[in-house]
Amino acid sequence: MLGFFETKIEFLKGVGPQKAALLQKELDIHTYGDLLQHYPFRYEDRTKFYPINELHGNMPNVQIKGRIRKTEMVGAARKRRLVAHLHDETGELELVWFKGAQWILKKLQPGVEYIVFGKPQLFGGKINMAHPEIEILSQFNPKSSYLQPVYHTTETLRKRYLDSKGISKLQKTLLHLANSKIHETLTPKLIEDYRLINKAEALKHIHFPTNHEWLQKAQFRLKFEELFYIQLRLLKLKLTRVDKFRGKVLDNPDLLSRFYNDHLPFDLTNAQKRVIKEIYRDMKSGKQMNRLLQGDVGSGKTIVAFICMLAAIGSGAQATLMAPTEILAVQHYHGLKEFADKMGVTIALLTGSTKKSERKVIHQYLRSGDLKIIVGTHALLEDVVQFSNLGLAIVDEQHRFGVAQRSKLWQKDKNIYPHVLVMTATPIPRTLAMTMYGDLDISTIDELPAGRKPIKTVHRYDSNRLKVNGFIKEQIAEGRQIYIVYPLIEESEKLDLKHLEDGYESICRAFPNVPVSIVHGRMKAEDKDFEMQRFVKGETKIMVATTVIEVGVNVPNASVMIIENAERFGLAQLHQLRGRVGRGAEQSYCILISNYKLSKEGKTRLETMVRTNNGFEIADVDLKLRGPGDITGTQQSGILDLLIADLGKDGKILQMARQAASALLEKDGNLDNPENGNIKRQIESLRKTVVNWSRIS
Ligand code: ADP
Ligand code: MG
Repeated sequence: MLGFFETKIEFLKGVGPQKAALLQKELDIHTYGDLLQHYPFRYEDRTKFYPINELHGNMPNVQIKGRIRKTEMVGAARKRRLVAHLHDETGELELVWFKGAQWILKKLQPGVEYIVFGKPQLFGGKINMAHPEIEILSQFNPKSSYLQPVYHTTETLRKRYLDSKGISKLQKTLLHLANSKIHETLTPKLIEDYRLINKAEALKHIHFPTNHEWLQKAQFRLKFEELFYIQLRLLKLKLTRVDKFRGKVLDNPDLLSRFYNDHLPFDLTNAQKRVIKEIYRDMKSGKQMNRLLQGDVGSGKTIVAFICMLAAIGSGAQATLMAPTEILAVQHYHGLKEFADKMGVTIALLTGSTKKSERKVIHQYLRSGDLKIIVGTHALLEDVVQFSNLGLAIVDEQHRFGVAQRSKLWQKDKNIYPHVLVMTATPIPRTLAMTMYGDLDISTIDELPAGRKPIKTVHRYDSNRLKVNGFIKEQIAEGRQIYIVYPLIEESEKLDLKHLEDGYESICRAFPNVPVSIVHGRMKAEDKDFEMQRFVKGETKIMVATTVIEVGVNVPNASVMIIENAERFGLAQLHQLRGRVGRGAEQSYCILISNYKLSKEGKTRLETMVRTNNGFEIADVDLKLRGPGDITGTQQSGILDLLIADLGKDGKILQMARQAASALLEKDGNLDNPENGNIKRQIESLRKTVVNWSRIS
């Protein structure tokens, strides 16, 4: 039987089949429930009137009250406009219309009191409002003095009268019908403990808030609920796994000790020691490990990964590391091979471009158990890849693999799943980690190896190029090497290549006696390798490249990173690129070169890079700028398709929700207690409608 909220939207008064089809297509609204959950994304404050002298250019739309002193037509041709001078007791401002002057003029009468609604903007040192809404006060409908909801809609819908106001009207109709049908979805205890308003009230006030206080209560309640159910799902997943899945007991420390005593090239940082302990404890526990390892660029994740692999191999098992791209896989392979060779541990690389004959040998040695470490890409997931005894699977995610793929890797040993360590290249903000990886335990390397000098970062404009070249010259004279990186994005690949080549030529012209390398994605692999090697050996002093070097080789002597068109890179990428320098003993520099024309966001990105070297801080800003969907790519959506909560802003509520979910499961893991009936019912209903819920059995 279909419930009230699953009623098709076309049956709502004022919708009908045609509009219903549009609502489905444009906003994915199919049912009554979908519409009710189409929450306003902001509200226009019509609860109060602002005095004119309090207006400034950074306000949203505001409401003011005043009389018109005079009106005039000013300017010529396309700039011709109607200006009305409106004043209240505190001051005066100009209302401006570029269009419809004749019609507006008829409406405006001197001396009469008006209500005006619009966005104050600073123009020529004065505040004005362009094309405001205007109404005579005495004809003003007092009902409109409230927080007016603003809904996302589309051009197509607007043409069919489903603009924000149109949607608001539908919400009103629906709420009227739904009133007695809205059931509580949280327990009385949660409602009391967290001082929440009930569901029906929350839905009413999210669409039609009486005032700020009620709006805030409604938002808190709905955000809490949304985050609570996500956390409940993740924690339940975690519990189920711990209960269900045994893990291999990998507790032989011999190999590990040998590495520690004979081959460890440096002292581990305390953070590295701590996370190794956390991981090793899991691997000995007899339960399957599911852990996230994160750390900033350069924090030394590779050696941690290797040491954990040794724990597995020392106990007779094998280990694998899967990376999202071939370049990354190759990089990991080289990083690990350095250590593996010292220990005489067998290691191989398996990617899409591994030759067939080589592949066969790899497959065979994996099955026989002679090959201990395999590094690779998705190629590892193929069914022909079988292990003798896979003990530890490390997945380098970079937010790119989905949960489904992760679990495919487990299946490599169906008797006892391998331990799983998810590793990320750059830090993830806490709120995001708690949500994307909320079913995992988390280990964080929050410390860089000692003796690293913080990289000095500056922002320069194109016009400063001569100075930058002067700096390059100085650095080369001191024996340093330089990276110059150009953006490469697929849509404009040709143009980018041209920029890169022009840049290369101008560098060669500016430094006629300095050997320069160039590397980009269109080159053949062997040519790329050849140029890279020349740079690594110090034969060339400047490396002009696209982002291929983001994950390229480690050149400790390279101490300057110059990023061209820096405004076109995302924060995570900028941080990753900067991480290419600062690996040696010398002071390193990062120079971000941009256009004068910068978007607000672009400016914030560059400022953030200049301000801090801390990857966790950068990740937080990134989350606030872009929102979680963009950061993680689409594969993770579902978990992150939040209707109302915002992981960039609602960290506190998330914390509460996780705490609440955890406490609930601790007391009543199967939700058998009748007190928790509301929650059990809600899970059932989510399971029907939300894909992600169906995975919990
Ligand atoms: P990331 O976490 O970015 O993968 P890497 O594992 O590549 O970092 O390590 C960066 C560099 O720091 C490597 O050259 C590595 O050998 C070195 N390194 C790692 N741990 C330490 C340490 N404890 N002391 C000194 N150098 C270290
Ligand atoms: Mg690394």
